[in-house]
Amino acid sequence: MSKITKSDEQWRKALTPEQFHVLREKGTERPFTGAYNDFKGKGVFNCAGCGTALFESTAKYNSRSGWPSFFAPLSGGAVAELSDKSHGMVRVEVRCANCGGHLGHLFPDGPQPTGQRYCINSASLAFVGGDKKDGKA
Ligand code: FE
Repeated sequence: MSKITKSDEQWRKALTPEQFHVLREKGTERPFTGAYNDFKGKGVFNCAGCGTALFESTAKYNSRSGWPSFFAPLSGGAVAELSDKSHGMVRVEVRCANCGGHLGHLFPDGPQPTGQRYCINSASLAFVGGDKKDGKA
């Protein structure tokens, strides 16, 4: 499904260890520890793996979950949603549609207008202020 194909070794070189763990090994950062959990900057959050614009600050809200939360992605095609039955739960995994990087999970307990909560690891995001989109390749 992803449009970017890199080996684990290439990803390891391109990412920090924490980014690699989250994006490529489906890791989860500890709650309330991520750079963007309590972050209120206005702009766009890109994929830390490939630079694709994924979420806008206008859709970010405080879910009190300990992870950055958004009620919608920037566009319907920016993220991919897949069934995830790991860890004895049935959840919806959220990935970057461009590079396949793991971002977090989707829960149906968000605010209006969508009622959705995109629960996203800070380590999978790279914030770009202002109106700039797709900051890095
Ligand atoms: Fe990506």
